[in-house]
Amino acid sequence: MKRHDVTIVGGGCVGLSTAKHLSEQTDLDVAILEKEHHLAEHQSGRNSGVLHPGFNYPPDSKKARFATEGTRRMKQYCADHDVPCEEFGVLVVAKTDREEAHLDVLASQAEANGVEYERLDSQAEIREREPHAVGQAAFFAPEAASVDSQQYIYALAREVQRNGVSLYTGHAVEKIRSTSSGYHLATSNSDIDTTYLVNAAGLHADTLAQQVGVGDGYQVVPFRGEYYEVTPERAELCQTMIYPTPDPELPFLGVHYTRRTDGKVIVGPNAVLAFGREAYRNTNVNLSELKDILAYDGFRKLLQSKTMLSVAWSELNKSYRKEKFTEAAQRLVPGVRADDLHKSYAGIRAQLVSDDGELVKDPLAIETDDAVHVLNAVSPGLTSSLPFGEYVAGKIIEMDEPSS
Ligand SMILES: Cc1cc2nc3c(=O)[nH]c(=O)nc-3n(C[C@H](O)[C@H](O)[C@H](O)COP(=O)(O)OP(=O)(O)OC[C@H]3O[C@@H](n4cnc5c(N)ncnc54)[C@H](O)[C@@H]3O)c2cc1C
Repeated sequence: MKRHDVTIVGGGCVGLSTAKHLSEQTDLDVAILEKEHHLAEHQSGRNSGVLHPGFNYPPDSKKARFATEGTRRMKQYCADHDVPCEEFGVLVVAKTDREEAHLDVLASQAEANGVEYERLDSQAEIREREPHAVGQAAFFAPEAASVDSQQYIYALAREVQRNGVSLYTGHAVEKIRSTSSGYHLATSNSDIDTTYLVNAAGLHADTLAQQVGVGDGYQVVPFRGEYYEVTPERAELCQTMIYPTPDPELPFLGVHYTRRTDGKVIVGPNAVLAFGREAYRNTNVNLSELKDILAYDGFRKLLQSKTMLSVAWSELNKSYRKEKFTEAAQRLVPGVRADDLHKSYAGIRAQLVSDDGELVKDPLAIETDDAVHVLNAVSPGLTSSLPFGEYVAGKIIEMDEPSS
């Protein structure tokens, strides 16, 4: 039986970043268990790939700090490790007076969080940046960038392996049991004993945590985000990245345009309840997981809110009816036509919901004496991954310090 000082379950950006910081800052023997045979199969490789400097988040919040610092550190990381990353900047467009008023909130958050920005007060100014975008005002954050998230994950994996971390792919953790000296992990491959545990299992983190009595009171609810690609002949419709003004009540940023580092322009994601934690197509159903979601009190309470019900209905429509998705895309760029959009990939967000029916909006990592369970690596989790992983590694380092 193999034994490691620290075992990290999940080889996404959070698990890999935690391993990177542990391997740089300690002599601990670190392993990562990843259930898939390839990396970046889930959230860390199926996202918009946008680095969001912290203008969307309240000052002094963990999210603001991680996003602002994460954007700068990740750009440097990409430059040092040949990961494609383009500093396009992001344009947030307001279409109504209410949205325009919210741009003031974004501006004051940007100032408080030390994020550069520019206000555009007319359609003419918007057109100078994005000739096809339409709105009455906009907010431009030049530090936002587009990154190849899959190449980032592989760069991290190569780096941690060079630092001596053992990366076991094809090892799905099935059962975790506490022992007198840590944990015993039964996997789909060999079993592993470990002194410290980091649970960074994304869509499955709550299930694993609950096996050792952590995180009762929460459940991951999977929300699928689907993308369309703008046909290459019409990719000039978006030069950089165009976002709607976010609704502060919702954790998701809304259907937006992203120019990727390979030149493709993608539009999305919507946010529709997935009928299974890995149900990437709207025809995929995992009956037992769906039953668990529908039976969850927190989910039922969430749906009691009229706003949530109407959002759920509108998002569902965008998933099953292309014309509804196109309408959302046309709100920002009226010139886009249904024929310009072709179905592309989808990602599934591991959105934590509490028993009282709240969508948990902040990152959440629960510590015990010998483990850290990352229950909510909420968006912008990719942007935040370097400081967030360092934070989780710091918790393990504190646990390992001899008590005085
Ligand atoms: C549609 C979408 C768009 C997004 N856009 C952005 C964006 O533009 N910018 C941004 O900053 N963030 C974005 N995010 C958020 C970001 O992608 C996530 O916050 C981040 O990737 C979470 O990383 P993670 O390591 O926690 O999870 P994951 O990447 O899901 O990694 C968890 C890993 O654990 C493994 N695993 C699970 N169960 C087990 C088990 N039992 N045993 C072993 N391994 C297991 C999984 O296979 C997986 O590889 C987006 C997310 C989605 C879904």
